[in-house]
Amino acid sequence: MLSITCEFHFDSAHRLFRKDLSEAENREIFGRCTDIHGHTYRLQVCVSGQIDSNGWLMDFSDLRSVVSREILSSYDHAFLNDLPDYQNCPPTAENMARTIFFRLKAHLKRPNCRLHHVTVFESWNSWAMWSEDHADDM
Ligand SMILES: [Zn+2]
Repeated sequence: MLSITCEFHFDSAHRLFRKDLSEAENREIFGRCTDIHGHTYRLQVCVSGQIDSNGWLMDFSDLRSVVSREILSSYDHAFLNDLPDYQNCPPTAENMARTIFFRLKAHLKRPNCRLHHVTVFESWNSWAMWSEDHADDM
């Protein structure tokens, strides 16, 4: 499998909180993470597929512009809990990786390549990855 990856950074605030639970229950589950705090997130977006006649899988600048438009424009310097994406789920790294994947999927589909996985690093040593295996549909 051939893939290319672009990495991005954004600063956001969030709190881990479930609306269906009380403040005490949230604190029991999420601990200090239920208080508002921030992260400098690293986001890696990986596309896989076949090399085209230009020798590219996808122009890196196309990948960068899609992610900037679809994700960074709303996520950078935002309170993630306020975004429509997180009205029904807490903005954990896991939910962010899944949500970002599905927000990008249609925008990164080309005849020769597809979005392969999205990785969200909440810190240098903690991250979540969402991937879809599509080796058979190329
Ligand atoms: Zn956090």
